[in-house]
Amino acid sequence: MKIICLGRNYINHAKELNNPVPSKPVFFFKPETAILKKNEDFFYPEFTSDLHHEVELVVKISKVGKHIAEKFAHKHYEEIGLGIDFTARDLQDEQKKKGLPWEIAKAFDHSAPIGRFIHKSELGDLQQLSLGLKKNNEWVQQGNSSQMIFTIDYIIAYVSQFVSLKIGDLIFTGTPEGVGPVQIGDQLTGFLNDIEMFSFKIR
Ligand code: MG
Repeated sequence: MKIICLGRNYINHAKELNNPVPSKPVFFFKPETAILKKNEDFFYPEFTSDLHHEVELVVKISKVGKHIAEKFAHKHYEEIGLGIDFTARDLQDEQKKKGLPWEIAKAFDHSAPIGRFIHKSELGDLQQLSLGLKKNNEWVQQGNSSQMIFTIDYIIAYVSQFVSLKIGDLIFTGTPEGVGPVQIGDQLTGFLNDIEMFSFKIR
């Protein structure tokens, strides 16, 4: 499986990092080894001193597809989850300055913690999903899928022009505003429509 991540999909997040608002989706990959499951502890990597949380809605692909039309995209996923796109912001800033790829800042082991998944039929309007992250029991990020620049269906149609989607692939759909650093000892707890989706500790 592969993990496809959208960058800059919420206007207020693009602005907080002084990035332009994109006219087309920006995407990058994380490998399978980025997954961290079952609320396992995350170990702060030694290569960064500015690790940021980015809480994101995650779409699990349930049907293979290539060149998927936007109007049929909904047939290619059944479940939505929540995850964190951990980002070594210091490394990413260096790469961005040089115009180089972001992988060292984004694709490292366990950079993609995920929690439970919920069938979309239980979630109501997918363009009105609330998502949020608490750090040590205080809200640090709160957003709503209505603020996404590109919808889930649009993202699937766009990405599948370039890359075939396979069963089990995950799409991280971008983070709302409020990204910030984590420290050893922090507890991160994610919510989708007020349902707790994951909770784990930074070690
Ligand atoms: Mg992200």
